[in-house]
Order: sequence, then structure tokens, then C-alpha cells
Amino acid sequence: MTNADAAQPENAITLLTPVEEIPHIAPKHALALRRLGIPSVAHLVHHLPFRHETEHAETPIGEMVGDAIGTARGEVTDTRVTGPYNRKRFMAVICDDDGGRLELTWFNQAYLARRIEPGMTIRVIGTPKRDGALLRMINPRWEALADDAPPPSREAVIRPVYPAGEDIPSRVIENAVGEVLDIALPLIEDHLPGSLCKEREMPTLREAYRMFHTPEDDQDIIEARRRLVYDELLLLQLAVHMRRDRIRRTLHAPALRASDRIDERIRALFPFTFTSAQDVVVGELREDLSKESPATRLVQGDVGSGKTAIAVYAMLMCVASDHQAALMAPTELLAEQHFAGLTALLKDSRVRVELLTGSIKPAERTGLLADIASGAVDLVIGTHALLTESVEFGSLGLAVIDEQHRFGVHQRAALKERKSDPGSTPHVLVMTATPIPRTLALTVFGDLDVSTITGLPPGRHPVVTMHEAPEHSARAYTALRERIDRGEQGFVVVPSIDTGEDSDLVDLTTTLGRLRERELAGVRVSALHGRMARAERDEVMQRFRDGEIDALVATTVIEVGIDVPNATMMVIEQAERFGLAQLHQLRGRVGRSEKASACVLICEPKTKDAELRIGAMLVARDGFELAERDLEIRGPGEMIGSRQAGAAPFRLAAFPEDIKLLMLARRDAAAWIEHSAELKLDAESVLLRRLLKAHGEQLGLVDIA
Ligand code: ADP
Ligand code: MG
Repeated sequence: MTNADAAQPENAITLLTPVEEIPHIAPKHALALRRLGIPSVAHLVHHLPFRHETEHAETPIGEMVGDAIGTARGEVTDTRVTGPYNRKRFMAVICDDDGGRLELTWFNQAYLARRIEPGMTIRVIGTPKRDGALLRMINPRWEALADDAPPPSREAVIRPVYPAGEDIPSRVIENAVGEVLDIALPLIEDHLPGSLCKEREMPTLREAYRMFHTPEDDQDIIEARRRLVYDELLLLQLAVHMRRDRIRRTLHAPALRASDRIDERIRALFPFTFTSAQDVVVGELREDLSKESPATRLVQGDVGSGKTAIAVYAMLMCVASDHQAALMAPTELLAEQHFAGLTALLKDSRVRVELLTGSIKPAERTGLLADIASGAVDLVIGTHALLTESVEFGSLGLAVIDEQHRFGVHQRAALKERKSDPGSTPHVLVMTATPIPRTLALTVFGDLDVSTITGLPPGRHPVVTMHEAPEHSARAYTALRERIDRGEQGFVVVPSIDTGEDSDLVDLTTTLGRLRERELAGVRVSALHGRMARAERDEVMQRFRDGEIDALVATTVIEVGIDVPNATMMVIEQAERFGLAQLHQLRGRVGRSEKASACVLICEPKTKDAELRIGAMLVARDGFELAERDLEIRGPGEMIGSRQAGAAPFRLAAFPEDIKLLMLARRDAAAWIEHSAELKLDAESVLLRRLLKAHGEQLGLVDIA
């Protein structure tokens, strides 16, 4: 066993040794390592295999058994390409030192003639067939062996497969790791105390690296991986908890009252009783908002699950405590809907609700801003731009952000402190119907508390979803017409407003004309899109709500928030153009009453992704299931978007497999931060250093160091 202080005084390898000085490494390979972001021995040891391959024992050709998978090696003695032009075969013969001879054939791979040449030594894996004295293999897997390749092994070996590059194969990296591992490992400090590793039944960092680079058996890989994945998750969780703890300590928010009397009065406003799922979330909110530390809670619930009522409850709780509340929606249309709904709900109260969007006239706006600043306005409804605009509140106690799941660090920063009360910030409530898969919620978004509304209000049926090819779209419209004849209403969604001649997008103008003339002739059809003036939009929505319009042909402006329970059918044109979350949101505009609803996706998926998305829509009933599928189809990086792109995807952790480890890491991190909030103990210095390196920048923790 080599040890750190074992004598190699002259050119002893340390963690800082540059890759050029690794024994037996070719200069071109050292350069290639640098290009892979591996400048030193330490980096090399941290460069982990992304999988392992079991290499079967090699058998001398003479001892190979027919019809059983085997591995052999030999020198290529003869090659040729035969067969007619469309069924070319590449054939080669290899011979081993004991005089064994194996004939190899690859169909339709004539190009191999340029890669497998006489004189080379290759290793092949496949199932040989005996044909008299002849031994043959068809389409074996093969690899070229370098002159200095290790001799044939009669036992199966597990080999690491490293992320490699064109000019440096995994094998070369494996050799380089082999040169330094024994010397480097004892120099690596573990950032976790040995006692924790014991308690968690995990190997130390050194052991884990050894087992992962050079496993003796599958169990080694499993154990090493467990420790390394745990590490990865723990570091992120520690960082997230650290940040959260800091916010708690340095910022404060008004403690909002929620007496039983207030609770009763708020509930009495609604024409329905809260479901038990809503009650649970209301309970969590009351608890949160009554504290002096700013809440950051994410309320997730499927489309139509009744999140608005919860947001309204929280806002009224805030007003009852003499603070203002703001509700921010992703679109003007939705803000207008919320405003209309809240105004109706509060018509008999003294609560003053105002709408602040880009469509407000400048003169009106000035007055409104003054009233918001003085505290005369209780509830402000606007778009997400409210966050970034310089709107000054007299005393903002709560900001509700509707239909957004990318709320993060920088947005919290945008909610400025009030000048009169430094360090004060509102509570924040984020509502989303695009549920974050549990795994993401707990990792990258781990700084939010999450409430979940399960299920839908009573009496709802799942929306029956179907797929129809464009040439059969008439069927969908016939069904829609039948519903309209019964007094129900519907939506037709198209991907664009109007498109030039050369675009193959279905557009609103053309579709509206066609439907009025043909499929929906005689039906009251109107258009709704984002380029209409607010007054016009309001009027159309009002008439649709009043049943004076039967069908709306719309762009995705109706994606979120529209709540017209009598609308029971949606036809989505060119559905392959929409993302999964978007399709689910759109579909959520129907199925809002006790009537059975339907959604027809008209499309011709041209890509694998589109096909998967449409398939997911047909089978997955709720948004949670869809979100998990979305994660599978797109991967976490894209779902997170710009936010903390560096924090995921993980190097090793994979979900859902590692969910248990994630929960463990989360618990451990919470407990850790509770007794050592800033990781300032001497024993924690390595941990802190690695944590800041991994996450300090994204999570704004850098100044801790
Ligand atoms: P979300 O914002 O979660 O998509 P909404 O808050 O718009 O859902 O609610 C969907 C519909 O369900 C609305 O028409 C709302 O009035 C109704 N609703 C909400 N909660 C209940 C309840 N507890 N009982 C009956 N209807 C409800
Ligand atoms: Mg909503």
C-alpha cells in the first residue's frame, strides 16, 4: 500500500501534479485530458466513470464452444468485402497464438474494411457457430487492442467506462487513473466525518473512489455509487438549507393574523365549501403567514383543483391584518379574469381591489400608483411585471404569484425591502398547475416549502382525450357541434394568429374563416388572441361567459386561468406544436363542471418527442403524472430553464431511482444546518469549500467564505 508520506522524494505525485507528469502518459493524451477539463491528478481522480462494463473471460479460439457467447482475441490475417452491392459483407479471419482460427462476418458493414486491417490484433465478443472444422461468428462486437494491451484474462473483469474524447479513448484514461490512484487516494480528504459514514453505512470517500474506479465486483459499484450520489445530493441540500436559514435570520415579514372569526368570514365569501385538500393547504398557509420570517411557499395543484380560492384566502388574511396583498398573473388576460372574479367576490366588502397592467392609461396609472404607495388600495392584481416594475407599496404583506413555477432567488430579490422598514420583505406564495416533479421540488427548488392540493373539487370527471389526424379533423368538429346543440360550449386552439404564406402553421384567421363557413356554419364563433385590445378581449370573454358565444377560436392566451364551467370541449389544432405542460394547461380549460368533457388533439407528430408528448397526453390523467413524463422526455436541465442550470442534471444521481437517497440527504442537511448554520467549524472546512465550489455562485452564498 502506498502512503502519502511514503518516500518518492524526487518526482512524487500529489493531487496538484499536472497531467503531463503522470507516468507513461503520452503528451498528446495529456493535452486531450486538459481539453476534457482535467488538468491535474485531483481532477483525474474526480473524473468518474459513467458506467461499468463487464468484460467476459477470454477463451483460446481452439477451446471455444459453438452456440455459447464467448470472447476471443487474435491477429487479423485476412480481410475481404464480398456480396452484391446492396448486401455487402465484410469478412475477416483472426488467428491466435495457439493456432486457433475464427472467421468473422459483418453484414452491411463494408466500411469496416477501412478499420480492420491485416496485422492488427482485435478482440471479439459474440456467439460462434461450428461449421465442420470451421468456427464462425456473425456480427460480433469488436475492439482493436493496442500492442501494450493487458494479456488475455481467464476471469471476467469489470472495467470502468469514462467520459472520453475523440483523441483520448476511455482505455487511456483508465490507464492514467491506474497510474495515480494508489498514490492519490490517501491524499484525498473526506468532507464527511467518519462517524456519519459509519452511521449511514457508507464507505469513506477514498474507499468509494477506489471501488468506483476499480471495482472488484458489482457490489463495489453499488456501494461506491451510493456514497457518491449521497455526496452530490447532500452538498446541494446543505447549500439550499443554508440559504434558507439565512433568509430566516436576516429578513422578516409581517406576522399575519388569522383568528377563527376572520377565517369564518373569509370562507363565507365563497359559494362552495373548501375541499379537505384545500383545508390542509389553508392550514399550512395560516401557520406560515403567522410567522415573522418570510414564507416562500409553493402551492401546487392540478389544473382546476381550486388554487385561486386558496390564494384569495391568503390575500384576505393579509388585508385583515392591515397589510396589502398583490396577485401576479402570467398574462394580462388572466390578470383581468382574476380582477373580475375578485371584484365580484368582494362586492359587498370594503376591500379595495385594483388592476394594474400595461393596458391602464397613463393618467389613471399615476393615481393608482399613488394609492398603492399610500396603502389606500388593499389588493393589487397585475402581471408578473409587477415584480420588476418599480411599484411602491405602502405595506406589502403578501405577494401571490399565480401559475409560475420558475420562482427563485433573483425574484425574491426583486421584491424590494420597504425603505421604512429595512430587512422587511413580503411573504411569497407561488401557485402552479405545472407541478414540479417531486424530485426537482426537493432538489433545485428545495428552498421552497411545498403544499399540494390533491384531487379536484367534487363531481369532476377526467377529460376524455383523443388524437385525430388532420385529414379527419371534421370528426372533432362534428362532435363539438353536437355539444353546442346541447347548449354546451367549446374552444378551438391554434398555434398562431396569422402566418405568412410560407409557414405551415395553422393560424387563427384562416381557421376562423373556414370554421364559420364549413364545419361550424351557423354556430356563434368568435376569436380571442393576445393582440386584441383589452376592452375587446373583455367583451368577448364576458359574452362567452354569458353564453352568447358558443365557441372561441383562440391562441394560447387562454392557456391559463380561464374558468367557464359550461365549456366542455376543446379541439387543439397542430397539437404537436405545443409543449406538454402547455397542452395540459390548455386541456384544463374544460372539465370544470360535472358534465363530461372532451379534448381532441389534432396532429401528425413528426418527431419522436412530439409523439411521446401526444402519447403522454392520451394516458396521463393528471398533471403530476405528466410532469414526471415531461422530465423523462426533456430531462431536468430544460425544465429548470435558466435557473441554476449548473445545479442539475446531476453528475451521478438519477431519478426516480435515487429518491430515497435524496430524502436521506435532505434530512441530514436540515439537521446539520440546524446545529451549524454556516459550517464554520474547523472540521467542516473541507465540506464548506466543496459546497461553495459546487453551488456557492448559484445560490448566492459566496460571501459566506
Ligand atoms: P386552478 O386555479 O387550481 O386551476 P380554480 O381556482 O380556477 O382552479 O378553480 C377551478 C374551479 O373550481 C373554479 O370554478 C372554482 O370556483 C371551483 N372550485 C374551487 N374550489 C371548489 C370547491 N371546494 N368546491 C367546488 N368548486 C370549487
Ligand atoms: Mg388558477
